[in-house]
Amino acid sequence: MSHVPDDGEKISFQNGRWIVPNKPIILYIEGDGIGPEIVTSARQVVDKAVEKAYGSKREIKWVEVLAGDKAFAKTGDRFPKETQEMLLNYRVVVKGPLETPIGKGWKSVNVAIRLMLDLYANIRPVKYIDGLESPLKEPNKVDMIIFRENTDDLYRGIEYTYDSEEAKKIRSFLKNELHVDVEDDTGIGIKVISKFKTERITRMAMNYAIEHGRRKLTIMHKGNVLKYTEGAFRDWAYDLIKREYRDKVVTEEEIMKDYNGKAPEGKIVVNDRIADNMFQQIITRPDEYDVILAPNLNGDYISDAAGALIGNIGMLGGANIGDSGGMFEAIHGTAPKYAGKNMANPTGIIKGCELMLRFMGWNEAADLVEKSVLRAVSAKRVTQDLARFMGVKALSTTEFTKELINIM
Ligand code: NAD
Repeated sequence: MSHVPDDGEKISFQNGRWIVPNKPIILYIEGDGIGPEIVTSARQVVDKAVEKAYGSKREIKWVEVLAGDKAFAKTGDRFPKETQEMLLNYRVVVKGPLETPIGKGWKSVNVAIRLMLDLYANIRPVKYIDGLESPLKEPNKVDMIIFRENTDDLYRGIEYTYDSEEAKKIRSFLKNELHVDVEDDTGIGIKVISKFKTERITRMAMNYAIEHGRRKLTIMHKGNVLKYTEGAFRDWAYDLIKREYRDKVVTEEEIMKDYNGKAPEGKIVVNDRIADNMFQQIITRPDEYDVILAPNLNGDYISDAAGALIGNIGMLGGANIGDSGGMFEAIHGTAPKYAGKNMANPTGIIKGCELMLRFMGWNEAADLVEKSVLRAVSAKRVTQDLARFMGVKALSTTEFTKELINIM
């Protein structure tokens, strides 16, 4: 049984807003492979930042819940009922990477948690850290945050193999009812994008942009071809922004028409770009992108492309957020070859926790975490994955953690 400290309190949510007590209970899942080492490191760094920022006034009350290998060893189940109940009750979790076999074996616990808490936004900040080896000439221009819709689109899983009864029925419906002929050996996947789901992710991205002083929001879509799904995503997003955030935004079109091409001070510029164009633009003109709002499939692709711009996946964290909960993690996996060797880079999950602190409104602590990573990398005090490119001696995971704490 997980031990819940008596003086901890639950984080609650009201209309998507986080209500955070001074001693919030936050769950953590150690995860598989390098998970336990990096999650321990992240908790230590976050605790230090909170203490430094707020003294004894605030403190995170961490509570471990089990999933993956550790849960299986103890209970015979990779995602035990008790963990599910704790997640439904406390709703905020830091999660180490979990192993998911490809094409066989157990289902993804990551996906199960996302569905259970309806975490409909996948959020990934991508900001260059001075000193990293990047493929770009001017990587310091990279500072974007991607809001990817997480529950709709082709990833809804409405898919049928070409020889299934369902595919046959759909093909015959297309032929007989809609007079569209497709080959008899056609597999079927259905793309669905709803107004409701578009609006809620748009709201989340806009609220984030406002609260964090971001200057621009770009809607990414392939609406020139996929008119009634991605084109609708674009239109619904614009409509909602103009309806609910009118005094805070200006569209690119309005800048050209009403402001002689120069954006008025203090407004968030809203524009949209076609998906394929965006792939070349984030490489050639990264400074033109700030908050990116994308439907599921585009968001998946652009997240990894953007991540590559800063040069190292071990350095990136992300979040899955809903109206009443959040899961924070590194974007990388379990890195089995480094498991248990005290060699892994914990920065990804530390950046995931930085994002969590921002969602909690504990920005002072988040800033301390951010700065200490910047300082460690610029002083070349890093783990082996970075040290080998910098030509310096590598720190172990625990030494790097101590370094982050000492220079904070
Ligand atoms: P991976 O991210 O684990 O590893 C890719 C490469 O990066 C490897 O060379 C690895 O050693 C290195 N690497 C990754 N993180 C590192 C770190 N923090 N420090 C140093 N080096 C690091 O990807 P993979 O090998 O494709 O996947 C391994 C397992 O992880 C799979 O079972 C997969 O399902 C799982 N996975 C889980 C998540 C998640 O829980 N969110 C995400 C991705 C992959």
